[in-house]
Amino acid sequence: MKNYLKNAVLLGTLFLVGCSSLIQKKESASIIIKNGTILTMDKNNNVINNGVVVIKDNKIISVGNKNLLNTYSAPKIIDAEEGIIMPGMINTHSHLPMIAFRGLGEEGIKNRLFAYFFPLEGEKLSRDLIYKATIHGSIDMALSGVTTYADMYYHMDEMAKATKEIGIRGVLGETVIKFPVVDAKTPYGGIEYAVNFIEEYKNDELITPAFGPHAPYTVSKEKMQEITRLSEKYNVPVMIHVGEFDDEDKRLNLKNRSVIEYMDSIGVLNSRVLLAHGIHLNEKDLDIIKKRDAAIAYNPMANAKGATGIARTYEMLEKSIKVGLGTDGPMSSNQVDLFRTLSYASSMQRLKYNDRTIMTPDIVVRMATIGGAEALNLDSKIGSIESGKLADIIIVETKSSNMMPNYDPFATLVFQANSSNVDTTIVNGKVIVEDKKLKTYDIEKNRKQMKAIEADIAEFAKGLAQKAKSMD
Ligand SMILES: [Zn+2]
Repeated sequence: MKNYLKNAVLLGTLFLVGCSSLIQKKESASIIIKNGTILTMDKNNNVINNGVVVIKDNKIISVGNKNLLNTYSAPKIIDAEEGIIMPGMINTHSHLPMIAFRGLGEEGIKNRLFAYFFPLEGEKLSRDLIYKATIHGSIDMALSGVTTYADMYYHMDEMAKATKEIGIRGVLGETVIKFPVVDAKTPYGGIEYAVNFIEEYKNDELITPAFGPHAPYTVSKEKMQEITRLSEKYNVPVMIHVGEFDDEDKRLNLKNRSVIEYMDSIGVLNSRVLLAHGIHLNEKDLDIIKKRDAAIAYNPMANAKGATGIARTYEMLEKSIKVGLGTDGPMSSNQVDLFRTLSYASSMQRLKYNDRTIMTPDIVVRMATIGGAEALNLDSKIGSIESGKLADIIIVETKSSNMMPNYDPFATLVFQANSSNVDTTIVNGKVIVEDKKLKTYDIEKNRKQMKAIEADIAEFAKGLAQKAKSMD
């Protein structure tokens, strides 16, 4: 009897110890974000108030309400302080190193391309400048909540190195064009450059290598087809400027066909293709783009500044064409972050269609996040806050005066917020910006690098300003 009692007490004790360890033991994670409004950007555009996101290594493992705090523990807890927790933004079109030249040639000259772009690119684009300018541009994006950008430029290996150093994602398309350029001595040398770059970076965590044929009127039919074959072989994106100008069909001598019809007839439109701008397109063009499952990078702010026109984005979205937002190069919109572009994205469509009810803020935020991911075929990995996706997340604070009141977080983001409201940026599970401070690069070092570049280019640009006057 005594022994029986003893055993019962022992079992009871074990049972209690077992229970309490069950209660205390939480599943371990890497980072928990709490106390914010989560814009998940999932299929139903779910918004979670007082939400919690759980990150383990580089992935999101759980998204829900504050009860998740009872299930998970992590060495790092980020209090969003009632801010907005959303997917990192995706800039689908840029030429980032041109950030070294932004602000030049703004004196209202007609021939800016010939007076500024070409001489600057011909004279000043060294590997070193591309690297340092990409460091600066990537810092600018990280601090303003862009976690992925797509780019078409030169020396993509330098850009990849700098992008990785700051810790954001890059879809980097090496330029292919029919002239000799800074990194290719022969016409179309970019194809070989791109293939080498793709081989080097095809399995990279942050970099997606790509082809960047400049435009249908600067790349021959045969070379476009060669790029299409290679992009299929390597399964990489192709980014190309299309419909930026209203005379592209004339430049191609197409007579009665559109540029899109021409591209379709030579077999270069498919789901890997991202068309930058897409302003001068007709309805038939949109149907072809939809049929081929190609995507559009909509750059409303750059298009307004350059007076190139307003894309039919509203109709594209009505036809379920994949559309992402872009800034274009920093000489075109002078920005690399998307905040101002968000408001242009809505306002320009309302002006074009004379309808204030279209392009509501939730649609615009979708374009800046999951829409961009779809346009780049990265939507299975990034673009929304859902369990299983890579942890690319930003927190936008709502304490600054411009963020109050905050009745509708989508409207607050699109029409009130600016880049300085970004408090935290996480890419691939790594916190690269915290309390509005960059953690991956010495900001003072970057400032000195950019001041030296600025001094050198300012000197060179004096001559350009004078020549520009005589050209006009
Ligand atoms: Zn462009």
